[in-house]
Amino acid sequence: MEIIHVSAECYPMAKVGGLADVVGALPKYLQTQGHIAKVVMPMYRTKFLYENEWEVVHKGNFSMEKMNFDFTIIKEKENKLGFDLYCVDINGLLDREKVYGYDDDTERFVAFQISVLEWLNKWEHLPDVVHVHDHHAALIPFMIHECFAYRKLKNIPTVLTIHNAQYQGWMGWEKAAYLPAWNTWKWGMLDWRNLLNPLACGIKSADAVNTVSPGYMLELMDDANGLENLFQAESFKCTGIINGIDYKVWNPLADTFILDNFSVKDFTEGKALNKKKLCDDFELDKTLPLFIFIGRLVQDKAADLLADAINNALNQYQGKLNFLILGSGDPEIENELMVLQNKFVGYYNSQITYNEKLSHLMYAGADFLLMPSRVEPCGLNQLYAMRYGTVPVVRRTGGLKDTVKDIDEENGYGLCFDYASLTDIDISIKRALELFQDKKKMKAIRKKMMEIDNSWIASAQQYINLYNSVQNK
Ligand code: ADP
Repeated sequence: MEIIHVSAECYPMAKVGGLADVVGALPKYLQTQGHIAKVVMPMYRTKFLYENEWEVVHKGNFSMEKMNFDFTIIKEKENKLGFDLYCVDINGLLDREKVYGYDDDTERFVAFQISVLEWLNKWEHLPDVVHVHDHHAALIPFMIHECFAYRKLKNIPTVLTIHNAQYQGWMGWEKAAYLPAWNTWKWGMLDWRNLLNPLACGIKSADAVNTVSPGYMLELMDDANGLENLFQAESFKCTGIINGIDYKVWNPLADTFILDNFSVKDFTEGKALNKKKLCDDFELDKTLPLFIFIGRLVQDKAADLLADAINNALNQYQGKLNFLILGSGDPEIENELMVLQNKFVGYYNSQITYNEKLSHLMYAGADFLLMPSRVEPCGLNQLYAMRYGTVPVVRRTGGLKDTVKDIDEENGYGLCFDYASLTDIDISIKRALELFQDKKKMKAIRKKMMEIDNSWIASAQQYINLYNSVQNK
């Protein structure tokens, strides 16, 4: 089977969050199972772009209302990712440093999707499945079916994976004029509550829809940022497939980003050496339990609670724990977390930035990872933490609920709580401190977590089953 993934992110070319990790890993695992998987994404000005060699595979042009665009499809020459990676270059529109956050993001991602379809339209054969990711690519199933210019593509089965349903790509109806001529009888497919809603359109138009955990799909039926009724109506084609982790990237035994490699056989010393490095670098006390948070500093991650929660904990359990934060996002939250720095010198530090290398060292050297998320479609951090022997302290929501079992349950290995509240975080920190005192139990839990198989193999097979099901429709 030949599957073409269309996505705004793909690690290591461009990463903002978990979407990149999934699109950088799933195709690799599809390839190892004997399929052909390709990824097409926008060409941003990233380090990966400049450090690798590319060849031009296609050139074309199209117009969006009154704007005319020339586009080029380039391909990474050496198959460095284990699959073919293609990027769409549109001079001045896509070739920026950041992935998102520009005033013309709507135009950028509509133009990206049109370029992909213009290119596919010129292929001599057709792929077996087009797999689109999140709202940036979610107009594709509609355009394949309803744009007259893409009649040739009409029968290609499509799958939409929703990595986060909070973001839907809403735009005013006037922007419908950007799409190549389409069957206006079908306007209802584009509409959701008087706006053109790409994610809603993808849910209506794709042959199959999945989220990145079964728990999150269930939650969306009741709470989906306005799309609840749509998820209920389309539930017959909606499933949840939990993300795996890329063992080639996230392997404590071979990770080149960490100071000392370790495995389940010798993690005590390995983790201690990585922790020492972290504590030396960030002026923390290596004899105390180290709690970390890594992620986007936004409300969905309950990052707005972090500063108060840390303040409470460092006052209440003075001299008994350390915190290290890595993240960026909402400037107000960033500021609150920076201000704490002067208050708890020696016990707290924050790195308000994006730093892939440091994130690996933190998973390797920490004792506990805090994730109080309000919304967590899958969550990869907790999976990485567990693989590196760091105990996840998580709110029972979405994928966190599906992947972390509390130590009080049979065969449990994490610490779970129900509410994104200061009280629940406080109780969980207290439980973590007690656990840390019990060296034997802590060691057994670390071992148990490191032995859990969260690789992509099983999840990739579920995607293959999904592709088969849409082909046999
Ligand atoms: P989301 O996609 O909602 O941001 P996920 O848990 O699915 O959350 O994935 C987050 C990914 O981004 C993980 O690989 C995590 O390590 C990484 N990450 C998030 N913030 C940072 C940061 N500031 N520096 C380095 N890596 C980060």
